[in-house]
Amino acid sequence: MTLAHPHPSHQKAKALRPGARRPAKELCSECGLCDTYYIHYVKEACAFLNQQVAELEAVTHGRSRNLEVSDDLYFGVHQDMMAARKQQPIAGAQWTGIVSAIAIEMLTQGLVEGVVCVQNTAADRFQPLPVIAKTPEEILAARVNKPTLSPNLSVLEQIEQSGLKRLLVIGVGCQIQALRAVEQKLGLEKLYVLGTPCVDNVTRQGLQKFLETTSRSPETVVHYEFMQDFRVHFKHEDGSTETVPFFGLKTNQLKDVFAPSCMSCFDYVNSLADLVVGYMGAPFGWQWIVVRNDRGREMLEQVQNQLDTQPVSSQGDRRQAVQQSIPAYDKGVTLPMWAAKLMGIVIEKIGPKGLEYARFSIDSHFTRNYLYVKRHHPEKLEAHVPAYAKRIVEQYQLPD
Ligand code: FAD
Ligand code: SF4
Repeated sequence: MTLAHPHPSHQKAKALRPGARRPAKELCSECGLCDTYYIHYVKEACAFLNQQVAELEAVTHGRSRNLEVSDDLYFGVHQDMMAARKQQPIAGAQWTGIVSAIAIEMLTQGLVEGVVCVQNTAADRFQPLPVIAKTPEEILAARVNKPTLSPNLSVLEQIEQSGLKRLLVIGVGCQIQALRAVEQKLGLEKLYVLGTPCVDNVTRQGLQKFLETTSRSPETVVHYEFMQDFRVHFKHEDGSTETVPFFGLKTNQLKDVFAPSCMSCFDYVNSLADLVVGYMGAPFGWQWIVVRNDRGREMLEQVQNQLDTQPVSSQGDRRQAVQQSIPAYDKGVTLPMWAAKLMGIVIEKIGPKGLEYARFSIDSHFTRNYLYVKRHHPEKLEAHVPAYAKRIVEQYQLPD
């Protein structure tokens, strides 16, 4: 006689229906966990209910970041950092397609049986559609950012049910934090996590407002990025590029556009991924790679022969620009376009570059977000802001 295994207790929990208020309320980033029976663990797992970056770093990487070492403080636990680009970029990828290329190799080399990634719906190129990709074509269909909150973890139930044992998950910080918290419950033999940095995400509605206030042709935008030259680059359907200086953004109208979750997030650099692929610590046109642990190194090795690489570098001093950005954002100051363009040109010439640009972006977002949490959720401030973020914010003078 065989005894049936009792179901894990989480399988008795019930996913929330779409649109129902989530446990993290307005701070919910729609990471997808609560769309599954893993909602059972939400109080512990949700990045906005239980910030536990240091504890999960220790479990995942064998240690938490050393606050006395500047690169650790800013970029998290890592073995290596570099700038890289694909020798043959993948057409239509966000940058050169390193993320998609790694995922394809991991699958075709048999290191994993499936890849959690996010495609878009047929009706809307910005509406996220998380999937477990099992072919290179399905991975490629997920290339390019969906600059909207995306419930990547909504496929977690399918993992357990389909019996997959080796999996790669691609995701942003809040998704990965919740994933790490339930990792041991997924019944996997091996999990690889490939992360991207993430900041200033928006709801689908918020995205519309951003495009309409900022782009000359909102309906033809295919993708956009806030780039190292202090401009937003919009790519349009016809292949043309439109640039708008950061300092010319209509801050007063855009103040409420970013999701409250992203205004309260201090995990810009995806601290808990095995490997992080972004752009902000690299020269213009290059991607920035942070290898956090051995699994991350193994992933990177799969595409090494497809990449040009160079060491990371750092130039300039961000601090004054960050300090000036604090009251400007707070008061919603918008410069006239000619002044914004001029400022963009000057700062591009003399401003922070490489890792110093990454620090500029981290500092300006952490100070802004610290003020946001202090004003909107003062009761959460102490526990929700990680120690490394408090150190970073302490370098600046903040308004009350
Ligand atoms: P591609 O090969 O095009 O693959 C992109 C992958 O991202 C796909 O596999 C897809 O599944 C996944 N993805 C797309 N949208 C989402 C989403 N909403 N949630 C989870 N996964 C998603 N990098 C920085 O250095 N600084 C930043 O400030 C920064 N901001 C970002 C903001 C957002 C909202 C996002 C999604 C990413 C951001 N990144 C940032 C990362 C960067 O834009 C690129 O995604 C990264 O460099 C990978 O480029 P690629 O060409 O290798 O990716
Ligand atoms: Fe649930 Fe994720 Fe929202 Fe937290 S952020 S309430 S875990 S869906």
